[in-house]
Amino acid sequence: MPTVDAFRDSILRHLTSTLARYPAGATSHDWWVATSLAVRDEIHERLIATQSAHAAQNVRRLYYLSMEYLIGRLFEANLHATGLTEVAREALAELGVDYTRVLDAELDMGLGNGGLGRLAACFFDSLATLDYPAVGYGMYYEFGLFRQEFVDGHQVEQPDRWRVFGSPWEVMHGEYAQQIPLYGRVENVFDDRGHSTPRWVETKQILGLPHDIPIAGYGTRTVNLLRLWSSHAPDDFDLAAFNSGSYEEATRKKQAGESISKVLYPNDKTENGKALRLVQQYFFVACSLRDLIRRHFRDSRNGWANFADKVAIQLNDTHPAIAVVELMRLMLDEHRLGWDEAWGITTRSLSYTNHTLLPEALEKWGVPLFERLLPRHLQLIYEINHWLMQRCGEVWPHDHAKQRVCSLIEEGDEKMVRMANLAVVGSHTVNGVAALHTELLQKELFPELAALYPGKFQNKTNGITPRRWLLQCNPRLAAFITATLGHERWTRDLDQLRELEKLAHQPAVQREFMAIKRANKAELAEIIARDCDGLVVSPDALFDVQIKRLHEYKRQHLNLLHILALYRRLLQNPQLDIVPRVFVFAAKAAPGYDLAKNIIRAINLVAARINADERIGGKLKVAFLPNYRVSLAEKIIPAADLSEQISTAGKEASGTGNMKLALNGALTIGTLDGANVEILEEVGPDNIFIFGMSVEEVAELRARGYYPRGVYEADEELRAVVDWIGSDYFCPGEHGAFAPLHHSLLGGGDPFMVLPDFRPYSDAQQAVDRCYRDQAAWAAKAILNVARVGKFSSDRTIREYAEQIWRLPAAPLA
Ligand SMILES: *Cc1c(COP(=O)(O)O)cnc(C)c1O
Repeated sequence: MPTVDAFRDSILRHLTSTLARYPAGATSHDWWVATSLAVRDEIHERLIATQSAHAAQNVRRLYYLSMEYLIGRLFEANLHATGLTEVAREALAELGVDYTRVLDAELDMGLGNGGLGRLAACFFDSLATLDYPAVGYGMYYEFGLFRQEFVDGHQVEQPDRWRVFGSPWEVMHGEYAQQIPLYGRVENVFDDRGHSTPRWVETKQILGLPHDIPIAGYGTRTVNLLRLWSSHAPDDFDLAAFNSGSYEEATRKKQAGESISKVLYPNDKTENGKALRLVQQYFFVACSLRDLIRRHFRDSRNGWANFADKVAIQLNDTHPAIAVVELMRLMLDEHRLGWDEAWGITTRSLSYTNHTLLPEALEKWGVPLFERLLPRHLQLIYEINHWLMQRCGEVWPHDHAKQRVCSLIEEGDEKMVRMANLAVVGSHTVNGVAALHTELLQKELFPELAALYPGKFQNKTNGITPRRWLLQCNPRLAAFITATLGHERWTRDLDQLRELEKLAHQPAVQREFMAIKRANKAELAEIIARDCDGLVVSPDALFDVQIKRLHEYKRQHLNLLHILALYRRLLQNPQLDIVPRVFVFAAKAAPGYDLAKNIIRAINLVAARINADERIGGKLKVAFLPNYRVSLAEKIIPAADLSEQISTAGKEASGTGNMKLALNGALTIGTLDGANVEILEEVGPDNIFIFGMSVEEVAELRARGYYPRGVYEADEELRAVVDWIGSDYFCPGEHGAFAPLHHSLLGGGDPFMVLPDFRPYSDAQQAVDRCYRDQAAWAAKAILNVARVGKFSSDRTIREYAEQIWRLPAAPLA
């Protein structure tokens, strides 16, 4: 490890020789790049050591296929991983450079929408930390998730040009470029004995270039790779047009080639069936499979015979499910294997994680689209389906209903390919992401496939990396824990936090904990003032936090109705004794999701009214921070007192925001949904506020027939707040601005059952209010949350995947 002097010299050398800057003229961005390159030198050394050891030992590897990686910033994570944090601080101090300004110069790598992409990022932190050999494949989007601004309360989307100035973490390896075919048609070619074989011809070619991002383990020398593909037109593609003098035609083709990896689709849990999205999926899967096959044949002399012994491929949701067919096609058509052998290798290599039960999120592609883009793949899907239908026929003779639901093809006006069914059939293991979700997956979503493949379904409850989500984001609490326990082992073994349990009732520990929380809240208050037009909030108020994608099922509008109820109670009784609260929101809506955008505007305009209303004596403040992203989450979470996890039961597969907030000592107010159920089990019923309908009660109410009007008529306060938001009170001069929101709750049938959960939610919030008045009791509960959520470390999750799905041994460097 370099000394402070050596590290300082390395920063200066990169500043001058790599960036051609002199220190006096260097910007924060320059210092960030130069320091990152100095850290990268150390990481690249470890990377080479790791990769050459893995190749020499021909270890079994995990290849993780994910369309999204929501990494955030890498600077601090890489400093922590290499143990260079203090060295870098001191070196920068000696150079007269402010450390936090350097941190803040880094733009987030926002190559994901939300939970799914962030999970992949946490998994890679744990994989490297636990010395598991792994490569993460994905897309190197030119534009990550859009930047969000608010204009008159409306969400406005701006492009996220995260890499216009390049990224110091990335290395492009042109030698591993791939050519990927698309379109064309299938013809049958006959050999000299009259056997015909299908051949995919007249295809268009796309060039894939790999961009490698190193992922360094914490407290170990292992460095794994993310290998992200960018798309290009092949050189000869435009050369012909260029030579014939058609410059415009040549640039048009070049642009078409680059368009595939141009932008991340900003839809979280909604499928919009766009052709380019399927092209993206096929492109990155095809590049990745070719690359991992190349690596296998490089390291292994046995070729396909031991492929499945050396290669585990995980599908993160159905986005890469086309891998089932592409792997088959490569083996059948390009490597000349027989069907049975190819199918055996495919199903022994692949496994699939399901992330949602929401019907609108289940991917389906029109058969005509498939036919046009991937004609050979469609043929193979029909062949797999033929075999699948035979098997259904054997298990359930004459039961055509069973065949219909299992089929890879959905019949209808337009036939559709069901990617989830394809992923289940082509994988050896399918997992859900929380106990409740896995149960519903087998009982509600895939009961027939679960019966057809007994033992195929498993649970792997999600987790979060304690490095980013405690050590890095909450240095005050992390230092307190380390000092209290007398060691730092908790950073690699989160169950060590149990030691804090016995201290939770000591007044000195409680006071220290609350002082840390208050300092974090004071820091967040500065960010709120900066980003919410000078809004002033008190760090002595209760910080009530809901941060996640905006979606009806997550019910930010339930939170809003409760805020309106509190506001109304205060207007009617200004003396009302309530604990002062700051409601903190952060959420992006998919650009085409009109109701979600309407909810954002409603929260913003209600916030403006409440924040300006002097009659309520500052007892309520509402801060909607724009542009939710990982680096902002890292600033909000350490400052949260209360964590809102209020989805309609059965809709949130797991949640991971719930885990981050509990780990940082926020108490959860939540429904019995996703991993909330398991958080309740871990922290105990006295240390969490559970309310609302269960999955069974939701189903019963729906079966009985749910009419929101009945609930609305029976509750005077609920009626008042629903009508208030539906009126023009919060949008004067603009008639019916919130009619869509109002309509969704009444005439629209309230599909996410906001109204029946309102009163139980309001009651639970009153319990929160009472509890917070006793600061010692609150502190004890918060400390017990920190102490008892060790289960939700992604290290635990990854060990379970490695042992129970991937059969992947760790390979620590000697
Ligand atoms: C953790 C995280 C999420 C997921 O939050 P949920 O509350 O589980 O939906 C989404 N976005 C970002 C930036 C995150 O850090």
